[in-house]
Amino acid sequence: MSTLQTMNNQEAAARDYVQDVFETVVIRNPHEVEFHQAVKEILESLVPVIAKHPKYRQNGILERIVEPERLITFRVPWVDDQGIVQVNRGFRVQYNSAIGPFKGGLRFHPSVNASIIKFLGFEQTFKNSLTGQPIGGGKGGSDFDPKGKSEGELMRFTQSFMTELYKYIGPDTDVPAGDIGVGAREVGYMFGQYKRIRGGYEAGVLTGKGIGYGGSLARTEATGYGAVYFVNEMLEARGIGFEGSTVVVSGSGNVAIYAMQKAAQFGAKVVACSDSNGYIYDKDGIDLDTVRRLKEVERSRISEYVKEHPNAVYVEGCRNIWSIPCDIALPCATQNEIDETSAKLLVSNGVQAVGEGANMPSTLEAIDVFLQAGVLFGPAKAANAGGVAVSALEMSQNSMRYSWRFHEVDDKLHEIMKNIYRQSVNAAEEYGHPGNSSSAPTSPASSASPMR
Ligand code: NDP
Repeated sequence: MSTLQTMNNQEAAARDYVQDVFETVVIRNPHEVEFHQAVKEILESLVPVIAKHPKYRQNGILERIVEPERLITFRVPWVDDQGIVQVNRGFRVQYNSAIGPFKGGLRFHPSVNASIIKFLGFEQTFKNSLTGQPIGGGKGGSDFDPKGKSEGELMRFTQSFMTELYKYIGPDTDVPAGDIGVGAREVGYMFGQYKRIRGGYEAGVLTGKGIGYGGSLARTEATGYGAVYFVNEMLEARGIGFEGSTVVVSGSGNVAIYAMQKAAQFGAKVVACSDSNGYIYDKDGIDLDTVRRLKEVERSRISEYVKEHPNAVYVEGCRNIWSIPCDIALPCATQNEIDETSAKLLVSNGVQAVGEGANMPSTLEAIDVFLQAGVLFGPAKAANAGGVAVSALEMSQNSMRYSWRFHEVDDKLHEIMKNIYRQSVNAAEEYGHPGNSSSAPTSPASSASPMR
């Protein structure tokens, strides 16, 4: 048998194996479409690896990787301002602790269910290992909607949530952090409740804490900054950069705000951002101070921006944000926000790079459009790993009972993102793009999306 024939046979066997594992996942986890999507994406990207290392077909590695170590669901009762008892559902998926304690954020959003939490926990496992730090994968949250809740309601809910969650977490077991709807304020309430129940000061049990009680400088900025550092590496490999470019960012939360800030520092003009109601377009460049005040301080809607900036326009609904011509697109809001149609629009308007600040913001069809068009594509597991990387640095500082200065953490973050980029390029060169395993990409720039 020729070498080529052997390679083709091994690739076919790898495809069959991956397909079998995927079908079992679908049967075992019915209706969990987001989870299926995340698993499919990873499994397909692993075909060239399994083809090259047939031993992985024999030892059931994929069967173990797709199954979480455990999924915990629990009741979260709390009393609203009218004195009425409300009941939400809490989740924690402890996905994989092969290389360290479970680590991953908590999301408070009405869309949260087992499928969302499992997709996030699954992705987190790969992202965390890519940072090079000793952290396993986990994720959690609740279908609680923080929007419109009073401070008292938020406090009572988060305390009730932690009253159950505390049994399963700890600095060496499972270390949650923030995500959509969970920032330093919510982490603070949870940390206080954990401390009360445990009767001890275990700073390393949560990350994303306030600076005054064990938080790390640069953690707030880390995911957004990290995504821009990663995209910058991709651009530089193609001999271009952020300087003079036009950027569109979706979202106006933690990730979006600091992605916008770093892109602007690198010389880009950010012309649009959004929230879950709609988006703003400011052709002169978004005034980030206004966005930060509206979203971080006043917690109001992005539509308010145009009252202070009459040259800007507000458009109800989020999808069309991707019709704005730009050189670089940074989706930083939520999953599946760029579908095939939006991806085609971005490509026809000349987008050169897409960096995923959010988790799984591009559908599988959208990713194909980007890859076929030769757009530089920074997948979430690589591009948004800066947040969890600095969370791990927060854990280190807590263990040492010591705090690094902002620039020390930021320098480490920058180095970690460069390393993630280098690892990604190396993997792409070794294995090629899925579906094309025998031909490694010819340039580093064309190979920046190895994990898809
Ligand atoms: P935030 O809650 O701070 O902000 C989320 C932003 O996205 C808000 O502007 C929100 O609008 C908007 N948004 C939420 N849901 C939707 C929706 N269905 N459609 C359109 N817009 C929506 O969250 P983060 O910035 O922390 O997280 C954003 C993404 O980044 C998520 O995918 C998260 O998993 C991912 N991520 C976050 C990390 C972190 O460190 N925070 C780390 C790695 C990934 P509104 O104001 O109306 O709610």
